This record gives sequence, structure tokens and C-alpha cells, in this order.
Amino acid sequence: MITKNIQLAADKLKDGEILAIPTETVYGLAANAYSEDAVKKIFDLKNRPNNNPLIVHIKSYDFLQNVALDIPDAAIKLAREFWPGPLTLVLKKQAHIPDLVTAAKETVAVRMPNHPMSIALLEKLDFPIAAPSANPFGSISPTSAEHVYHYFKDNLDLILDGGHCEKGIESTIIGFQNNEAILYRHGSISVEEIERVIGKIKIMTKNETAPEAPGMLSKHYAPSTKIFLSDDIHELIKKHSGKKIGLLSFDKQIIGVDILHQEILSSTSSLEQAAYNLYSALHRLDSYNLEVILAERLPNVGLGKTINDRLERATK
Ligand code: AMP
Ligand code: MG
Repeated sequence: MITKNIQLAADKLKDGEILAIPTETVYGLAANAYSEDAVKKIFDLKNRPNNNPLIVHIKSYDFLQNVALDIPDAAIKLAREFWPGPLTLVLKKQAHIPDLVTAAKETVAVRMPNHPMSIALLEKLDFPIAAPSANPFGSISPTSAEHVYHYFKDNLDLILDGGHCEKGIESTIIGFQNNEAILYRHGSISVEEIERVIGKIKIMTKNETAPEAPGMLSKHYAPSTKIFLSDDIHELIKKHSGKKIGLLSFDKQIIGVDILHQEILSSTSSLEQAAYNLYSALHRLDSYNLEVILAERLPNVGLGKTINDRLERATK
């Protein structure tokens, strides 16, 4: 059922069941973060490997001490600046957080979401919500209730409908080593914005990522149609001529070539608007029975880095 009834959603979570919830980033599959049994249902439905930890969503800054300890000053600064919002902090965990939530690590990923429905839902609960994106493992993240329904149909009882996600792309994940801040995942808040608050941070390269941020797989966020990415979209089109082509471009319509569908992420060249539209455009292109999706790399600044990161992973 797709509903706007927040009380119904709260009752379901209290009963140890799972459901989909809207956030400002993407839709999440939610469970009581303190219940290993409830959280297991998320892994089963998503087909998500156990070594891929979940983000714990809390209702307030003050609730943070219930899930994390020894919080670095830089983390406090970032939380004060960006919460509620699309910033996930990886912190030392409180012992009672189940191993399944954290992939048996000593750390927990936590954020305070900024969506009126998820905040109202958390207000009705005395436990935090563990929630990964509401898609089968590895596929494109959902940014609307319809995307979630399309994936899970009747295998999921309840989808809380909060409209199209305002940001449309996942949270930025920051961890700490010896009190030094490290970017684990590009997200809705750009590196530049983070650095404005706490100064230069370390960007974890793909090879370093594996042990520290399990689940940051190089292949992820992928449509089922094969996707290719390039700075030179015309070259790419030439290479694939004769095929059933779908095009994903940043801000310009490509004319005079034989393509079946084109998605333009932002005709005003706004990276924020491009992030908002990215997954919806990929969902649409994936539904047209194309042979290939050809994508244009975005300018590599601000949210452009996040979008390029997602497109890069989609091509693997
Ligand atoms: P999702 O909610 O599907 O966007 O995935 C959450 C991501 O958060 C995972 O893929 C992990 O990479 C990251 N994450 C969650 N918990 C931790 C943790 N304790 N340490 C490092 N990364 C984490
Ligand atoms: Mg995900």
C-alpha cells in the first residue's frame, strides 16, 4: 500500500516490520535500528550482502549520544552545520547497536534526515531507524514512491509517500581516523561545502575504500541497460551508431543524430537540478528497452563530482 499515514508507519516499525520511507536524499527501507530481527528483513528484501552496513537515522542532534560515543569536534561542527540534512557521519558506536546494522564494525553511520515525514515519523518512535536505499542491491536508487513500488510490488506492505525526494542523490559520508576527517562517499553536500566548515579533508580513493567503508562497491547504482560515460558525447554516439540509443546529457539537447530518447538533466546548467533529476532520468531510460544508454560526464566541481561518481559506478 502507498500511503501518507505516518501513524500507520510508526505502528508497523514498532511491530518489528519494515517499510519504505521518504527522505530528502532517496527513499529508504526502514526498520527499528535496535532490532536485529527487523533489520534482517531489510537485508533479505534487498538481497544486500551482510558486509554492507546501514545508515542509522536519528530524530535530533541530542539523540546522537544514544548511538555514538567519543565524537570528534569536527563531527560536532559538521552536524551543527548540516543537520537535519544529507550528511552521514561514521562514528564510534554504542555497544547496543546490533552487529548487522554496522557489519560488525566498531563504527556506526548516522544522520538526521531532513524530510517532514521522516522527522514526524521519528518523533513518534523511541528508537532510531536503520535504512539503506529502497532498491534491490546494486540497482538505481529510488527517488519517488512509484520507483519503490516498481521494485518490490507486493513484497513490501507499506510505502510512505513523501513525493519526489528534494535532493535526489544519497548523503555525503564522512568518517574519522585519528581525528582526521575523510570523505567515504561523495553525496548531496559537496566536498567544497564540507571544507568550508572544517578545512581540507582527505578524499578516500577507490582502492583505500574497501576496508573502511564496506559496500562502497565500484559497481553500484546501475540500470539494467548497459551504460557508457564520456566527456565527448558525440564521439560516443558515433561509436554506437546503428544501436537503439538513449542519451543522458547535462544541459544541451543533441540534435541531428539518431537517438530514441534523450534526457537533459538541467537546461539551466544547475548541478543541484541535475542531481535532483539524475535517478528519475535513469529509471525512465532503463524502461525503454534500449540497447545502450550514453551519458555525458558533468563538470567535475561541486555536485558534479557526486553525479560523475554515480555514473562511473553505473558503467562498471
Ligand atoms: P545506502 O544507505 O544504501 O546508501 O548505504 C549506506 C552506505 O553507508 C554503505 O554502503 C556503507 O558504505 C556506508 N556505511 C554505513 N555504515 C558504515 C560504517 N560503519 N563505516 C563505513 N561506512 C559505512
Ligand atoms: Mg544504496
